[in-house]
Amino acid sequence: MTDYRPPLRDIRFVLENIVDLKELSALPGFEHVEAEDVYDALAEAGRFLSEVVAPTNHIGDTTGIARNDDGSVTVPAEMVAAYRQLVEAGWPAIKGDPEYGGHGFPGVMATAVQEMLTASNMAFSLCPMLTTSAVEAFQHHGTDELKAVYLEKLISGEWTGTMALTEPEAGSDVGALRAKAWPEEDGTWRVQGTKIFITWGEHDMADNIIHFVLARAPEAPPGTKGISLFLIPKYLVNEDGSLGEKNDVECVGVERKLGIHASPTCVMAYGEQRGAVAYLVGEVNKGMHCMFTMMNDARLHVGLEGLGLSVRSYQLALDYARTRRQGRALDTPKGQSAQIIEHPNVRRMLMTMKVNTEALRALILDTSAAGDRSGHAANEADREVAARRMALLTPVAKAWGTDLGVELTSLGIQIHGGMGFIEETGAAQLWRDSRIAPIYEGTNGIQAIDLAVRKIPMDDGAVVASYLAEIEAAASNLVDAGDRLGPIGEALHRAVGELRKTTDWLLNASPSDTLSGATPYLRQFGIVAGGYYLGRLALAAHGRLAEEDDPWLHTKVEAADFYAKQILPQAAGLGDAVSAGSEQLFAIAGDLLD
Ligand SMILES: Cc1cc2nc3c(=O)[nH]c(=O)nc-3n(C[C@H](O)[C@H](O)[C@H](O)COP(=O)(O)OP(=O)(O)OC[C@H]3O[C@@H](n4cnc5c(N)ncnc54)[C@H](O)[C@@H]3O)c2cc1C
Repeated sequence: MTDYRPPLRDIRFVLENIVDLKELSALPGFEHVEAEDVYDALAEAGRFLSEVVAPTNHIGDTTGIARNDDGSVTVPAEMVAAYRQLVEAGWPAIKGDPEYGGHGFPGVMATAVQEMLTASNMAFSLCPMLTTSAVEAFQHHGTDELKAVYLEKLISGEWTGTMALTEPEAGSDVGALRAKAWPEEDGTWRVQGTKIFITWGEHDMADNIIHFVLARAPEAPPGTKGISLFLIPKYLVNEDGSLGEKNDVECVGVERKLGIHASPTCVMAYGEQRGAVAYLVGEVNKGMHCMFTMMNDARLHVGLEGLGLSVRSYQLALDYARTRRQGRALDTPKGQSAQIIEHPNVRRMLMTMKVNTEALRALILDTSAAGDRSGHAANEADREVAARRMALLTPVAKAWGTDLGVELTSLGIQIHGGMGFIEETGAAQLWRDSRIAPIYEGTNGIQAIDLAVRKIPMDDGAVVASYLAEIEAAASNLVDAGDRLGPIGEALHRAVGELRKTTDWLLNASPSDTLSGATPYLRQFGIVAGGYYLGRLALAAHGRLAEEDDPWLHTKVEAADFYAKQILPQAAGLGDAVSAGSEQLFAIAGDLLD
């Protein structure tokens, strides 16, 4: 199986030309950050992850995890060793608050590292990813007393975190959850309830596991307005910081599943015996607000799973296409066979993988940088603009990214022919692992609704309008640059024009039409955003080509050109699907589904 090759140059190009890392790292709070240091650190992260974590991917998939009779869960020893090294090297703490031992680097750097971590071993990556997302919420909403006990160890990764929302009757509808909480006289709480599908709910990679659990306080109103967030440690912590008694928290089962075999998906029983000792995070009945801080971070990083897996799948497919010989290409001499990469359709599949991953990376890093600016921009107005940009793009990054993850890793199998279906090549694992990402962290259907119902109407459509205006400006810049960039700009103008039409249609549509058109709209949005970012990267490369005739820079123009001709035109077709309305789905004389 091909070793993972961290795409450092591609990542850097996006950080330089889309994110503007130099400007970002000059913002208040990042004064200690030099862009060049970030690039050096990313190179070191890439080396570490490809050498230490990537080799555990296949082992994790084939060995899986085991739940023991005492309820403990064992993960492959190679992963335990890799996790210890990850923590020792300080990678989980990149963006953590320096007051609690973090390195205080921009979140966009952590996102770039997370791409490489996910590509190295997605099942493994979920543990630090969820911990970092939990830290995000805890840092914002936890009390100083609680933070003094838990935050440093969570930031370092010495202890890991979970996000426990789902119950058998409360999946997409989180408001239906029933776990209950009650206060004790000493100021602590007790929680009782069963949660299902809890990722890394129990394992042996860390000494303590800190569960962030949603439950209902006494007399809480129904639905999401009556949910509170609690911190429930697996082991209680003594006053001197040492680990004390085991809490009333049990893993009562682990799921067998299609992919991410090395990530324990646990049924967790909290407080079955006497009530689990719990600490309130944020205010009573404001748990959903706290959880959203956690989920926004996690959603972006789940979108990133589509990217990481697709990049690794592309590398495997590319290597295979260069070595496998089959059939004759048009110019292959008689009696000889060609490398399959010489066949136009194989090239098309590879290029489809390559350009989509580049587009997706730019979208995800841009969204992550908006998150940084929402916390660090110099004034409140800029911080608010950035927060809204992040809110707009997060559901697109999550859903378009994870749909692409499934499609591109499937193409990776296709390029291998029959060998892709055989586990030995590793292509199948990437596809199996990718399949969960459109489902968890809010299904992609729910993301589309979030985009259409909540995000597009923000500020009466002004947030989306300013993003579309940026795309139009980039298209004009491409047209003005002329040469090979002109037609790319024209294609982008046409596509963003279609997106503007459907956006206007959605903003004025009935609730049922909005819900019916949401999914094709999100797809259209993702496709156009992808063209926008590739166009900007092509412009940047074009500028640099005037100084140096580097073939790698030419590939950035070629990527935008391929995308403009082969993928952007799909945006127009999707417009009809959006505006077909709910009548097509419901008001039918004969029901298609009967
Ligand atoms: C491997 C794995 C790991 C997980 N990890 C965690 C974790 O760590 N913590 C945690 O709390 N949960 C976790 N989950 C749970 C996951 O988040 C849920 O499975 C997911 O939110 C969907 O809920 P559900 O399974 O109940 O599906 P349902 O909500 O029953 O959805 C079924 C289908 O109906 C659609 N649907 C439902 N409601 C609507 C609606 N209002 N409008 C439109 N369509 C709708 C959905 O999009 C979906 O297609 C995990 C799940 C898995 C499989």
